[in-house]
Amino acid sequence: MTELRGKKVPLLKKWTGQIPYLVRTAKLIWVSTREWSIFWAAILIVLAVLPVATVVWMKALVDSLVNGLRAGTSWTTMQPAVVYGSLILTTSLITELAHSTLEWIRAMQAELIQDYISARVHQKSVEVDLAFYESPDYYDSLYRARDDANTRPALLLEHLGAVIQNTITVVLLTLLIVRYSPWMMLAMAFSVVPAFFVVAHYNWLQHRWWRDTTVERRWIQYYDQKFTTAAAAPEIRLFHLGPFFQAAFEALRTNLRSQRLQLIRKQSLSRMIAALAGMGVVGITLGWMGWRTFRGSATLGDLTLFYQAIVGGQSLMRSITASLTQVYGNSLFLGEFFAFLDLKPKIVSPKQPLPGPSVLREGIGFRNVTFCYPGSERTALQNFDLVVPAGKIVAIVGPNGAGKSTLIKLLCRFYDPQTGSITFDGRDIRHFSIDDLRSSLSVLFQVPVSYDAPVSDNIAIGDVTSPSSPEAIEAAARSAGAHEMISCLPNGYSTLLGKSFANGTDLSGGEWQRIAMARAFLREAPVILLDEPTSFMDSWAELEWFDHLRVLSKGRTTLMITHRFTIAMRADWIQVMKDGRIIESGTHEMLIRQDGFYAQSWRDQMEASQRAVPVGV
Ligand code: ATP
Repeated sequence: MTELRGKKVPLLKKWTGQIPYLVRTAKLIWVSTREWSIFWAAILIVLAVLPVATVVWMKALVDSLVNGLRAGTSWTTMQPAVVYGSLILTTSLITELAHSTLEWIRAMQAELIQDYISARVHQKSVEVDLAFYESPDYYDSLYRARDDANTRPALLLEHLGAVIQNTITVVLLTLLIVRYSPWMMLAMAFSVVPAFFVVAHYNWLQHRWWRDTTVERRWIQYYDQKFTTAAAAPEIRLFHLGPFFQAAFEALRTNLRSQRLQLIRKQSLSRMIAALAGMGVVGITLGWMGWRTFRGSATLGDLTLFYQAIVGGQSLMRSITASLTQVYGNSLFLGEFFAFLDLKPKIVSPKQPLPGPSVLREGIGFRNVTFCYPGSERTALQNFDLVVPAGKIVAIVGPNGAGKSTLIKLLCRFYDPQTGSITFDGRDIRHFSIDDLRSSLSVLFQVPVSYDAPVSDNIAIGDVTSPSSPEAIEAAARSAGAHEMISCLPNGYSTLLGKSFANGTDLSGGEWQRIAMARAFLREAPVILLDEPTSFMDSWAELEWFDHLRVLSKGRTTLMITHRFTIAMRADWIQVMKDGRIIESGTHEMLIRQDGFYAQSWRDQMEASQRAVPVGV
């Protein structure tokens, strides 16, 4: 990702390397703006031709004025001058109109392009493997793709438009003055070449600096977020972290600021030298034409035309070079956006998937599964075997880091194991389409997600395949033991949850967990996966909740991870995990009789809870 750091890139490659991105950008602009691009191009052509017409009519105006004054001032002699004057005025009027229309069209294009890019970034963010979210490279790439990606194509469009428009004008002006001396335009072209390369070179350096400092800029964003998000606000106050984060933020900003200013200082100096060279060339060519007029080999109209063409042409060429380097600079940044779009997920559906499971008859199986998280040296599961019989509730218990949550992530196919297979009724889950597989799961993750939305929507998003009826939403809430709590909210199921928007109501951790559980239960999937479903519940609520689960899980296969033995003991079967392996299994009574790890942990937990009961209760 940082191959540019400190590497010398040949000049030609700096330019040719961007061509594919320019082509992709052109396609992106076309796909997102369609007919607006046609209007845009048409107006650019009009705006390119009008200045040339003005130059031609200005020469004719000066010549007809000189001739009219020589022949005596009468309507007949001055008529041509009036006509040319009117034409010049009309041209100015049309130019103004065209500029306003172009501005409006560009604003329209910018909006459309922005929305198109956001949609692509969002789509790709959902498409990439979950593993991408655990790699710093992914965040670097996402950060670079997002940084200004929304505005870059619109800027590119603006500068590309300027290049096209000004090039047409310059070519037409060249045709006008080339008859005075073919070398003139060549001299003019050479006058802007140094400026062009200076700007392009610094654009490239700036892009390299921007790319190489991605990590620093992400840290800056991180510190900034710590100050402005609710999650960190309590600890920042409690631990006096404000000055600590501020100092870290300041140190990074100071470093970046001085690097950038150094770059800009060098750039300004080089630009000034290049501009002086250009001005010298203009001075020489104008002097040459003035001398010719003085000698009588050119008219006053010729001098006017030449002056306008040379001065206008040079300023246009300067603007072309500036725009070209902007096109180049913006395409460098867009390269990052395209690189992000090119990320390919590894976890994909098979070409010919099996029909998704609607009900399990045998159950879930893990056979000889070995799995190590991407980028991690530690093996989370080692030659792991497990059977969850169809229609049963199986509890998985075990110490922190035993590999319990990993089972759920593998069943969702967020990752694939390195060896072994995971099966539904004997069929490898990799043979189902990813959508079918995930639709067959009702999952409650360890950390429930809270959405800033009304309660009913918070639950309904558990199944977006069809609109959920209020009855279905209420039934799911009842199964999760959330109905009573929701009924006490100010607007019941219509209450807006979350504190980010006006009139929102926040919930406790346990209440959010119940909402998340209702969301999982709304989906009538054949497999239920619950990761610490009662971690926020008190022991009374827990027992009632389990009774609901018994009813709900009828005919379904349930895998429940829990640290609470009081809930695990109610399951049909208990699997005890440690260090990525099953070390004991059986019913609660069987495991207590075995007097192994489970029995010891059970006794420890019971004793701890006895100690926790206050005197007099
Ligand atoms: P807990 O009871 O604390 O939730 P667990 O039994 O669910 O623990 P897992 O989350 O499955 O444990 O983690 C198993 C092992 O994999 C642990 O050693 C953990 O550090 C590691 N691990 C978990 N997630 C990742 C990850 N995304 N990348 C790298 N290693 C991970």
